Amino acid sequence: MAGIYLHIPFCASFCTYCGFYSEVCPRQGSHTRYIEALGREIALRRGYLAGHGGAKTIYFGGGTPSLLSPDEFRTIHDMLAAGFDLDAVEEFTVEVNPEDVVTCSGLLPALKEIGVNRISMGVQSFCDRHLRWMNRRHNAATAISAFKKLREADFDNISIDLIFGFAGLEEGQWLDTLKRATGLAPEHISAYQMSLDSESTLAELAAQGKYVEPDDETCARQYAMLQEELQGAGYEQYEVSSFCRPGRHSRHNSAYWDRTAYLGLGPAAHSFDGNASRRWNNPSVEEYCTALQSGILPPGGGETLSERDIYNEQIMLGLRTARGVEKSLISDQGVLEKAGDCLRIPRDKFFICDSIIEKYLC
Ligand code: SF4
Repeated sequence: MAGIYLHIPFCASFCTYCGFYSEVCPRQGSHTRYIEALGREIALRRGYLAGHGGAKTIYFGGGTPSLLSPDEFRTIHDMLAAGFDLDAVEEFTVEVNPEDVVTCSGLLPALKEIGVNRISMGVQSFCDRHLRWMNRRHNAATAISAFKKLREADFDNISIDLIFGFAGLEEGQWLDTLKRATGLAPEHISAYQMSLDSESTLAELAAQGKYVEPDDETCARQYAMLQEELQGAGYEQYEVSSFCRPGRHSRHNSAYWDRTAYLGLGPAAHSFDGNASRRWNNPSVEEYCTALQSGILPPGGGETLSERDIYNEQIMLGLRTARGVEKSLISDQGVLEKAGDCLRIPRDKFFICDSIIEKYLC
């Protein structure tokens, strides 16, 4: 079975660290042209998942999907249901912004109505000063209210995102964020180290000498705190950046790491046939809508993976997981540890996984 990723390329404002392509777009009523284009893409690509037995996971990511109105969510869901077999969908995730959860009263009932059973909320920090610096729309109190609203609306599978490894984050503040996160008891926590994305405001600040990244030791300490704190609170680390309560791993993301087929819809979305073919749409929303209005697929690209590419992908993706890579695929160079039929990077070396993985690529 396969996954469907649907991209919502709109944000209400831009976060300092983010280099994703998205457009600043106010809330309701302004996405009509985009949604019509999505409907056309769904119709044109409905055959892509043929032979995969329908969709098992759906993921609405962005951008900020929670900027869609309740009716826009219903429309998109109806278009998906008309294009694909959704009977066997196990996990349907939507990314939300805390501010939208708190201010849009119709949002959560609409998500329930269309079958969303997993929420991924971008919290990033529980320190208001840091949230302001990141240019996030919410503060810590809003994030907590939003989490409570999600629970009241009966969402029992919630993931929150956190960020560490940025200048000015002190260990005590990071620990406080981790404790407040685990105090909410979400089923899943993803934590990412802030990086300098070339398209971001942060990269500009760095180029002007106004931002200096923290050193590796500082980031490594914060990563170790993350692992220790979440493990102590009963979370399993199943991937370099992903922690969950037992059994609550992200099915959708795990399928990416297993190289399961998926269809990506929307600008910048990538698709994979589960074997050796990838394709993608260009990021421009304007080009995307214009092409689909004329009844043609949006501009994009594609590639056929060689045997070597496939091998490297299996290694790169597999070694980032706690399961690791099957022994038959890899010969150890003294760094990996055995885990059943697999070899994996020991957890205390996850922070330097990229430099380890490099050694196993061909
Ligand atoms: S981090 Fe998310 S909300 Fe912020 S600009 Fe990037 S895509 Fe938009």
